[in-house]
Amino acid sequence: MLMQALQDLRNLNKEEITALCRELGWQSFRGGQVFSWVHAKGAASIEEMTNLSREQRQQLSEQYEIAPLVLLDSWQGDGGDTIKFLWQLADGNTVEQVLMFYAGENSRDRVSTCVSTQTGCAMGCKFCATAMCGRGRNLTVGEIVGQILLANGWSRNHGKPSITNVVYMGMGEPFANWDNVKKSLQILNDKNGLNIGWRRMTVSTCGLADKIKELAVEEFPLELSVSLHSADDEIRMALMPINKKYPLAVLMQACDAFTEKTGRRITYEYALFRDVNDRREDAEKLVRLLGGRLAFVNLIPANPVEEAGFFPSKRERIKEFADILEKNHIAVAVRVSRGQDIEAACGQLKRRNQGGDPKENVGKKAEV
Ligand code: SF4
Repeated sequence: MLMQALQDLRNLNKEEITALCRELGWQSFRGGQVFSWVHAKGAASIEEMTNLSREQRQQLSEQYEIAPLVLLDSWQGDGGDTIKFLWQLADGNTVEQVLMFYAGENSRDRVSTCVSTQTGCAMGCKFCATAMCGRGRNLTVGEIVGQILLANGWSRNHGKPSITNVVYMGMGEPFANWDNVKKSLQILNDKNGLNIGWRRMTVSTCGLADKIKELAVEEFPLELSVSLHSADDEIRMALMPINKKYPLAVLMQACDAFTEKTGRRITYEYALFRDVNDRREDAEKLVRLLGGRLAFVNLIPANPVEEAGFFPSKRERIKEFADILEKNHIAVAVRVSRGQDIEAACGQLKRRNQGGDPKENVGKKAEV
């Protein structure tokens, strides 16, 4: 007889877990218990669910499991405030995740994690190490949520606070896996799960205009971040092939639809590459593009991707760029590039693990 593959409980939301418990002939409240084990306590196995009877655990285990994410590698940088994980999925694929600790005001620490949504990416951004890993596949809901649950467990086991913010900005384009990303957001927001507020979750896109418009009509009050990297179609096209399908005029129309419908400000990510998009005229073009729009610009001192020929801008150039935006009333922040010493830019740890980058790792191995 053929054995049926076990399904991952992390793929299920509360309603689905409750329906499953009813199907098994259990009382409905068991649904809440199982959901809490999976999505709040971060149980690694059904065996841990000690408020279920041994028979019930056995019954559940006949069809379901909590699919393991195996920690293949992890590195820490920024004095231990940035941790990078390389997870191996059930099919042997690997994905990266970054966990960042920020000391906050009034003892309110922010713990942010940057999660992956695909094992590679088809968008082909020229500066991106993930693009060099190939197209990859979509992550399941369980694989997305699992990253956050496991990183949260890591944080607590090391005496650190729980995750407060989730950013979908790791490997992959979240809108290319939107159904699974959307369900993972709902699970993370569930009060009986990790209960992460919508405003503490950010979806970052390279600019899939159709999906931005779709998001505008859906009722998710999450934060939207758009990777812009240039206000000039020609330069943007050279950096991001997606600009061919969705040139700036189309992208900005979608962004306007989003802000009109939601009233929310969009964050525009702008990684500064030396002599590519960091000149005075580039800043002036950005002012013309975003002037009058509800926008916030994150200037990112780019991580170097030497094999692609991209190098970070000089500090003075970044300051001058930011000053031009500020003088023209564009809200801007220069983001501190966390994890540069462990190459936190997405896809780089995976590439090295695959033997794609022979450079010595200068980060410190995290204790796991
Ligand atoms: S930057 Fe993001 S969208 Fe572009 S190739 Fe990399 S993972 Fe994909």
